[in-house]
Amino acid sequence: MDRQMHPVPDWAGSASMTAEGYRVAYDAARTDPDGYWGEQAQRLDWITPFTVVKDTSFAEADFRINWFADGQLNVAANCIDRHLDTRADQVAILWEGDAPGAERRITYRDLHEQVSRLANVFKRLGVARGDRVTIYLPMIPEAAFAMLACARIGAVHSIVFGGFSPESLANRIIDCDSRIVITADGGCRGGKPVPLKANVDAALDHDGVAVDHVVVVRHSGTEVTMKPGRDQDYATLMAQASPDCPAAPMGAEDPLFILYTSGSTGKPKGVLHSSGGYLLWAAWTHQHVFDYREGEVFWCAADVGWVTGHSYVVYGALANGATTLMYEGVPNYPDHSRFWQIVDKYRVATFYAAPTALRSLMREGDEWVKKTDRSSLRILGSVGEPINPEAWEWFYRVVGDSRCPIVDTWWQTETGGHLIAPLPGAVPLKPGSATLPLPGVLPQIVDAEGKVLEGATEGNLVIADSWPGQMRTVWGDHDRFFQTYFTTYPGKYFTGDGCRRDEDGYYWITGRVDDVINVSGHRMGTAEVESALVAHAKVAEAAVVGMPHDLKGQGIYAFVTLNSGVEEDEALRAELVQWVRREIGPIATPDALQFAPALPKTRSGKIMRRILRKIAENQVDALGDTSTLADPAVVDHLVANRIEPG
Ligand code: ATP
Ligand code: MG
Repeated sequence: MDRQMHPVPDWAGSASMTAEGYRVAYDAARTDPDGYWGEQAQRLDWITPFTVVKDTSFAEADFRINWFADGQLNVAANCIDRHLDTRADQVAILWEGDAPGAERRITYRDLHEQVSRLANVFKRLGVARGDRVTIYLPMIPEAAFAMLACARIGAVHSIVFGGFSPESLANRIIDCDSRIVITADGGCRGGKPVPLKANVDAALDHDGVAVDHVVVVRHSGTEVTMKPGRDQDYATLMAQASPDCPAAPMGAEDPLFILYTSGSTGKPKGVLHSSGGYLLWAAWTHQHVFDYREGEVFWCAADVGWVTGHSYVVYGALANGATTLMYEGVPNYPDHSRFWQIVDKYRVATFYAAPTALRSLMREGDEWVKKTDRSSLRILGSVGEPINPEAWEWFYRVVGDSRCPIVDTWWQTETGGHLIAPLPGAVPLKPGSATLPLPGVLPQIVDAEGKVLEGATEGNLVIADSWPGQMRTVWGDHDRFFQTYFTTYPGKYFTGDGCRRDEDGYYWITGRVDDVINVSGHRMGTAEVESALVAHAKVAEAAVVGMPHDLKGQGIYAFVTLNSGVEEDEALRAELVQWVRREIGPIATPDALQFAPALPKTRSGKIMRRILRKIAENQVDALGDTSTLADPAVVDHLVANRIEPG
């Protein structure tokens, strides 16, 4: 289903990287990583310059990952202080609230003051270098202040997405043993209140939680109970704190944050990132993958509770002195035009979102987009799941008016930033492909035994050598880190994703390796079958899983969400089955097709296929860890309406 290559836009000549520049950089990073990254790292301010660049090995005998190890820097100073001479009055954070009309503008000068005060508040509450601070806040500027305040004093933050339950919050507080939580009275999403402080209270009742201090930002106006001696008001503490706080010199390998993965495939892992290598990777990719230009408004629509929010709402964007937009709400409130109204209001140049959000808007029709202007947009980006070619085309044609390149960025919490993504202006696009690896990234496709496959092929995606933004360990369990990522294919980082490489060397993520379906000996990625279903005019979203089948080994079970207003009936079910058969071939014919008003997703919007697999297999009492599920009711509905494969 390769479609046409999309041309590079007419501003390509002024892009931060040209086609030739990309080839040169890729070769330089491959043949001389020390020279290449030593030079690229000069984009950061170092307190003590490093003398060693890369010191890494994926082999068991001398396993280690160090970058710039003897250098010292401070991440907050890189994101704030060094910009003060030139851009103190420039807006650093543009905040748009859930309710239209609510907005705040934080300049770099304001950011410096707020972060310094909060760093002093943390110190006063006993937070020292290396201590963990749990951040459980809505998408408000205070979330960024808290991250940067930790970085300023060398504390390690662990953000827990505001949509998580008290149970999930408690588990994450216990896992990293944090003694302090910063939260808000409440959040607001789509006009509905989120009881953050009440959730914290419930989490702190769990056995094993040993939190001494809770700092509470007043945001929603929700009434809360404040426990004397434990809970304190943010504004009061901030008013008492000094606006002067020196930035602590930190080793490049000192930890910056812990972030638990989404839990799409199992129990979340505490992914730990470094200060120097991580910041370089976030800043480098923000610059080149988004072709970031001075003065432009950059909008990454992800929550700071996800790695995408860490690297592109906050660290990468601010390290580059950008104006970053932070939006508290959801795509469809008050109506389906909200994203595009915000784009127009702030003249947004770059818009970066997840396929799940795009598909949910796409099913409502084009009018919601068309009635807005969007002429400020220059680059569009996608992240989190494979973007189906159909959704890609919609994003390109309808949202971008066929003017804006789409950067489909493949990466993981573990990778710190993009690994495979097109550089706009340098790399021609193919809808549905993340295209080519960035400089410093050595992807390989291997078979089940680890044999490296060359040329156009399909298999498991591994990365052959270290890059600066790589995670350094699983918090508290270095052995789990090694076991999880470096033992399946010894000497290589295993991504867990399946991948195809085409004749042009382009990479196509086919889904997670665990999700690969094997029908009569033919291996099929879930992404391919799902894309075929989504290409049907009446289908909004689809999830496909394998299930045991007597004759074929595995059969295909498809869950299908229809567009708004389309009726479910037997004729349509049969039509969709035939449609897949025609689009891909008889081998891909679904054995069961269940209509699903909604699909089970993680709170970051990813489809949880492992749960769907259990439903398809009719093992509904063995659903596994469901704590990261956004809406458990969705699963009950699917279980009740399961169909027997024919
Ligand atoms: P867990 O590791 O806990 O199961 P998760 O893998 O969903 O959860 P993330 O780190 O948020 O956690 O997601 C990374 C994964 O998302 C990738 O491994 C890949 O499967 C998918 N992904 C991300 N971006 C893309 C993309 N552009 N194209 C295809 N797949 C993507
Ligand atoms: Mg993962």
